[in-house]
Amino acid sequence: KPTPVRRALVSVSDKSGIVDFARALADGGAEILSTGGTARTLREAGLAVVDVAAVTGSPEMLDGRVKTLHPNVHGGLLADRSKPEHIAALSEHGIPEIDLLVINLYPFEDTLRRGAAFPECIENIDIGGPAMIRAAAKNHGSVTVLVDPADYAGVLEEVGAGGVSAGTRQRLAAKAFSRTAAYDAAISRWFSEETGEAEPTFIAFGGTLAEQLRYGENPHQRAGFYRSAESRPGPARPGVATARQVQGKALSYNNINDTDAAFELVAEFDPGDSAAVAIIKHANPCGVAVGDSLREAYEKALVCDPVSAFGGIVALNRTLDAEAAEKIVEIFTEVIVAPAASPEAIEIVAARKNLRLLVTDGLPDPAAPGLMVRSVAGGLLVQSRDNGRLGAADLRVVTRRAPSEQEMRDLLFAWRVAKHVKSNAIVYARNGATAGIGAGQMSRVDSARIAAHKSAEAAKAAGADRPLAEGAVVASDAFFPFADGLLAAAEAGATAVIQPGGSMRDDEVIAAADEKGLAMVLTGMRHFRH
Ligand code: 5GP
Repeated sequence: KPTPVRRALVSVSDKSGIVDFARALADGGAEILSTGGTARTLREAGLAVVDVAAVTGSPEMLDGRVKTLHPNVHGGLLADRSKPEHIAALSEHGIPEIDLLVINLYPFEDTLRRGAAFPECIENIDIGGPAMIRAAAKNHGSVTVLVDPADYAGVLEEVGAGGVSAGTRQRLAAKAFSRTAAYDAAISRWFSEETGEAEPTFIAFGGTLAEQLRYGENPHQRAGFYRSAESRPGPARPGVATARQVQGKALSYNNINDTDAAFELVAEFDPGDSAAVAIIKHANPCGVAVGDSLREAYEKALVCDPVSAFGGIVALNRTLDAEAAEKIVEIFTEVIVAPAASPEAIEIVAARKNLRLLVTDGLPDPAAPGLMVRSVAGGLLVQSRDNGRLGAADLRVVTRRAPSEQEMRDLLFAWRVAKHVKSNAIVYARNGATAGIGAGQMSRVDSARIAAHKSAEAAKAAGADRPLAEGAVVASDAFFPFADGLLAAAEAGATAVIQPGGSMRDDEVIAAADEKGLAMVLTGMRHFRH
């Protein structure tokens, strides 16, 4: 139900637009409460204003450090109007209801930007402002909170029409909480840099330092591992950030990064359908496979690139069992991550003292929403998580030949793997195993050639008489801009292709596929990963 504004508290450092706004509220019949400097500005403009000091019965003191920190203010902001006992408490203590709060905080960030000295920055940390903002935002069911002059006009319109809607109050409350969060984050970062105490908190997620790391990607870089506020340990959000380390050396920055990539990839495969294993190096998979058992899947994954798998990260989508553990510990591995591990498997891994074993109590949900953050000079890039997933029904066959059932299974498998390979990504797959992966090249045709080359090398290492890519399917994370990438795949022996489509030259690419007798399906979805 819209709330009318009978009383407003106005306390702003940036006074732009405030006179007009307060006058409009007053003309609508609202009483205006205000603090020292703001009250002066409003009175000079001819408005009738009640001093907050008159409400609190206590003067502003300590250079303004204490102005509004008083039950007579916070009671009026926090009383839930739908609760008769709250209203009764207000009248018992003679506390006026405050329906609308207008604040902008001491300009801490501007003070920093000016390069002010430490004591001046400290003086510009607002205490009462954030307390009132948070009180009003918490009580948005009854109170409207404004922290941005850009919102004055919209609110006035609603006030004029009878009251501020619940939707607007809620939206403004969300904005208010992000304002105080950003304000405190700025203070916290400045303070820890200034004093050398503690690491700055992880601002974007409001995270906390989970572990100081020995170093970053390289030994001359400092690093820490922050856990985001919403990822509490436990099965609610299983993943690397909430994993439990059963044994092994401390995790490094690169270990955590690679383990995350490995585990996110293997989580694409439902453990109820098949066992899945991903082996990762430098955040790219060098072998991925599904099978009836983890051991079978691991053996199939290892064939793809046994050279790169040395010192890799192994992720599993089911409970690590003894058979799989025995096989995995045969070569040097940095990390094993799994939803759980059997006691026998834990014993087998224990023989490799340095090998880190992580258990997570579950798999991340590949379809779940989330935010991804990356820093750029002077800022952050934030995007929603790539939770795009496709099934056979989403694919469009564009060639004369449609994929066989086995090809279709492998196409979907290869597509899921390609999503987790750095672009440009080309993935060959056959019988539920990768058969050659080309990652991170600047040209798609190079990625296709590298994948084919790796499949030939792997075949040699396995003593096979033909490249693994022969008779395989191929996935491309983005469209083929020219037919050459597709022709390179055909030459390597691929029989079916999955790719987004959408190139200006799709017709050319489709014609080349038809000419080579390939089946091709388009996804209409791209999986760039950089
Ligand atoms: P004014 O210019 O009206 O004297 O002060 C306005 C500023 O005071 C606003 O930025 C508001 O957030 C801040 N403020 C309001 N109450 C308090 C308080 O009790 N303590 C402190 N430190 N700041 C306050």
